[in-house]
Amino acid sequence: MKKSNAAMVCFSGGQDSTTCLFWAKKHFSRVEAVCFTYGQKHSKEVEVARQIAGDADVPFQLLDVSLISQLDQNCSLVNPQLAMDEEKPADSYPNTFVPGRNMVFLTFAAILARSKGIFDLVTGVSEADFSGYPDCRDTFIRSLNVTLNLAMDEQFVIHTPLMNRDKSEVWELSDQLGVFDLVRTRTLTCYNGIIADGCGHCPACKLRKHGLEEYLKRRGLKDNR
Ligand code: ZN
Repeated sequence: MKKSNAAMVCFSGGQDSTTCLFWAKKHFSRVEAVCFTYGQKHSKEVEVARQIAGDADVPFQLLDVSLISQLDQNCSLVNPQLAMDEEKPADSYPNTFVPGRNMVFLTFAAILARSKGIFDLVTGVSEADFSGYPDCRDTFIRSLNVTLNLAMDEQFVIHTPLMNRDKSEVWELSDQLGVFDLVRTRTLTCYNGIIADGCGHCPACKLRKHGLEEYLKRRGLKDNR
């Protein structure tokens, strides 16, 4: 991909979006980050995101879309009364699913980006993610891309560099981008709000840890060859 133009990254300070931030810095000459609060229990991630963006010299903007949590309290990320599903229920999504979240995030990101003359959007969604959230699927992203173009009569491009990567491959990408240590020690992925390796038992920590172990094993084999 040609290094040109500008990109707006949907950025939360987690492993995935931080990898995307540095992916964008490699591929675009100008990168900005937009971070969302949506009534999530752990607002610490906002501070983590702000610091990482600041250190990476990326302009950072915070948007409050907490209306989303007022509309639906059935998600354990926004409702303190709900215990978090640690496993994926057989017939549905875990209660960490926030209905409509990525549609809202990307729509607001597009409106903001357009106001700055930016038409490339970057999001860290992945189909390989265990939870299978519908708004992380490629079909949804392509559909929304068309809708945004029609809604604003523009030519947005939504980039999803992690779409087909499992967590070990996301670690691999951060290594290729030279930010493996930064992602490992500074990002916040844990649903219980603990930085770096996290609490170790929430679904996000398990996934991150499993991917890391798998990648380190693969890297070790390669290094020893
Ligand atoms: Zn955790």
